[in-house]
Amino acid sequence: DDDLALLHGVDLGLEEGGGAEALPVLAVVGRPNVGKSTLVNRILGRREAVVEDKPGVTRDRVSYPAEWSGRRFTLVDTGGWEVDVAGIDARVAEQAEVAVALADAVVFVVDATVGTTDTDEQVVRLLRRSGKPVVLCANKVDGPAGEADAAVLWSLGLGEPFPVSALHGRGTGDLLDAILDVLPEKSAHGVALPDGPRRVALVGRPNVGKSSMLNKLVGAERVVVDDTAGTTRDPVDELVALGGKPWVFVDTAGIRRRVHQTSGADFYASLRTQAAIEKAEVAIVLVDASSPMTEQDVRVVQEVIDAGRALVVAYNKWDLMDEDRRPYLEREIEQELVQVQWAPRVNVSARTGWHADRLVPALERSLESWDTRISTGRLNAFLGELVAAHPHPLRGGKQPRILFATQASTRPPRFVIFTTGFLDPGYRRFIERRLRETFGFEGTPISIGVRVRE
Ligand code: GDP
Ligand code: GDP
Repeated sequence: DDDLALLHGVDLGLEEGGGAEALPVLAVVGRPNVGKSTLVNRILGRREAVVEDKPGVTRDRVSYPAEWSGRRFTLVDTGGWEVDVAGIDARVAEQAEVAVALADAVVFVVDATVGTTDTDEQVVRLLRRSGKPVVLCANKVDGPAGEADAAVLWSLGLGEPFPVSALHGRGTGDLLDAILDVLPEKSAHGVALPDGPRRVALVGRPNVGKSSMLNKLVGAERVVVDDTAGTTRDPVDELVALGGKPWVFVDTAGIRRRVHQTSGADFYASLRTQAAIEKAEVAIVLVDASSPMTEQDVRVVQEVIDAGRALVVAYNKWDLMDEDRRPYLEREIEQELVQVQWAPRVNVSARTGWHADRLVPALERSLESWDTRISTGRLNAFLGELVAAHPHPLRGGKQPRILFATQASTRPPRFVIFTTGFLDPGYRRFIERRLRETFGFEGTPISIGVRVRE
């Protein structure tokens, strides 16, 4: 399938840079020959032109680490996605769509000497709908004489056109300044975090045993002094060595401070829970296994999912567990926590320390899933087989086609599927189930977005 070929084998290496940071992503979009690659080279400060690439050959790399004025970002060059020369124009909108789905901001390049075409208008509509910040680059303005051509592009309704000569470097500084003004500090596609120990939130409703568990964990191994390289931490965060590695338990002050159980305190406790989850990469939700599960337990689990953090569910007070209670607990888990069957489960006792050592392997499994990236090639091979074996059910004689898919981000894994029509929710869940069966993802929420091509 041609559409699949478009992205086949192209791994959007957005994890470029290796560290825990999620750099903002800038996509360069525009028709062929407007000078996208030339501009990318200019931004990257490279002499050698990517332009020399043979037409019809897909470059296997589309994202590059870039820097301007001391700010780092990831640059996505859609020029490399052109797989065949015939019918390229029709592809531009599609490519822009994918790029926009992945980007935090977009540079839209127009050849000012040529002006705009229908394709440009189409891309502009798409860019507007996306709500992402867009900077308009009026390229090939090699001298002052061309500035009038650039001014015409105000009519696109994308704001100020920046006259640029990507070839000679004229105006690219102003363009980059304008880009940095609109580019967010960190990517919406991931969690920007400092390098260093992984961050854990220990959460759960009052009295499930959070402070007991924290004391147990801190007591188990010596508390690491606060001079580990690369750790800047809040005084309310606690650095704890577990399994021979340092971990940061975030917002522990809230756990240690005993608050009276008034309704007001409950409100603040739940705000604190949310804040802790936001600051963490992975959450351990403690549940009191010895008493009936409550709505509040389910809500905390849901907050972790909504925040897109990795998850471990720990059933505490197992020392109080008796054989009568056991079947009730299992039924509660089945009924109330069915949406997180993928989360590792650990039965523990903060009082005796029983199974506390099982928390670390569970945290590591969840984080590994949270970090997982499936290459576009593998993903589309998987989807191709799935769709062939289990096509989407017919709807009014029609059937939405899946064109291609890509993993837009990690932490947590987010997928975007491009289709010709809306997918039934049941079919979407089916895809998620199969994704999990095939690739694992134990302990991490995953999201699947569907983009319908008009
Ligand atoms: P892409 O297909 O959008 O990536 O465009 P390229 O970067 O491959 O550029 C297409 C052609 O336009 C090449 O021959 C470039 O040398 C030329 N070009 C790119 N930028 C400029 C510019 O600012 N001024 C002039 N005169 N030519 C340019
Ligand atoms: P928090 O409000 O979540 O921080 O809960 P605490 O750690 O203060 O624990 C609430 C109560 O449950 C205290 O009386 C603890 O001693 C008790 N508790 C905590 N963990 C366990 C456990 O594993 N077993 C038993 N039997 N009691 C526990």
